[in-house]
Amino acid sequence: MKDFLPFTRPTLDEATIAAVAAVLRSGQLASGPRVLEFESALADYLGGARTVRALTSATEGLEIALLACGVGPGDEVIVPAMSFAASANVIVRAGATPVFVDVDLASRNLDVGQVERAITPRTKAIMPVHFSGLAVDMDALLAIAERHRLRVVEDAAHAIGTRHRGRPIGSFGDVAVFSFHPNKNMTSIEGGAIATTDAALVERIERHRFHGIRRNADGEIDVEFAGAKSNLSDVAAAVGLGQLRRLDEFNARRRLLAARYFERLADFDRVMLPARGDEGHSWHMVTVLIDFVARGISRPQFQRAMAARGIGIGVHYPCIPGMTFYRQHGFRAEDYPNAARIGRETVTLPLFPAMRDEDVDRVVAALQAELD
Ligand SMILES: *Cc1c(COP(=O)(O)O)cnc(C)c1O
Repeated sequence: MKDFLPFTRPTLDEATIAAVAAVLRSGQLASGPRVLEFESALADYLGGARTVRALTSATEGLEIALLACGVGPGDEVIVPAMSFAASANVIVRAGATPVFVDVDLASRNLDVGQVERAITPRTKAIMPVHFSGLAVDMDALLAIAERHRLRVVEDAAHAIGTRHRGRPIGSFGDVAVFSFHPNKNMTSIEGGAIATTDAALVERIERHRFHGIRRNADGEIDVEFAGAKSNLSDVAAAVGLGQLRRLDEFNARRRLLAARYFERLADFDRVMLPARGDEGHSWHMVTVLIDFVARGISRPQFQRAMAARGIGIGVHYPCIPGMTFYRQHGFRAEDYPNAARIGRETVTLPLFPAMRDEDVDRVVAALQAELD
């Protein structure tokens, strides 16, 4: 059998490995100069008008962003019904209540047309997810937020390098959070970052990120609330710096591979392709829908069959309101028909910068053989 093709794999170069070795030899391992350099490189990448703070993950970043925006018990936050569970979990962990809105079947993004209906007097924030690196219509969403005086905390975990109307995602609303998990478009092993324009927020984010500590002018510390411990290490930041240098190259390769899938699958009606978007799409993933009931197989059976052909197939994501914890809190997948259908039918095809064109063709041939 040919080499196994995973659904994703990070590309790390020798320069990055050398930079990590240099940090390890330096004796400065935790947050130090590399973290500051990473934060300012990310701010430059986003156009220079944002302050960026790096953290141990996007999950931590989202939770801290919500807390720093004052979200807490009694508040509601609007979130798409189909995303990674972290998008809703962080709302619960902040003490607030998620209010799910269905997604669009093609774009997989929050249906902006349904957002206003979900707003109540308790709504404090909206959390759009730029699914698979396809930007949410930010003009429409920010107009709604402004009309109702709501915060917008963007889950941009998939969207580092996404461009929307000529500008990078992370340069639109007042808070955006990126993920640098190894599955994402760039990695810092584990890691994430918050980008914001709001100076007051930066100060609160820094305190939430490090024990709630504030230092007075004499350098003495005080704690005003029980903060988290979510600062990034210099080792991780060195990886992130090496990745950020190549991010646009990685994303250009992702776009070419995605385009090849669209070409090769255009006439194959057993899979439903997602919205194509425009050239700003960062193609974190190519996810397609398959009617498994009509094919008479289950998704896990399909995944095993594809694995037997040497191809890794992911699932991103089941509908959040259908998960046990959310069902126990009264949510029902059936109330979000598109999210529920995507949750049942979605599969993620292999896509990562080091993939070759022939790998796409191999995936397509296996799909055709398996689904015929
Ligand atoms: C990966 C992901 C997260 C969490 O990112 P981590 O860095 O792993 O915490 C949040 N939201 C979405 C949509 C994701 O895909």
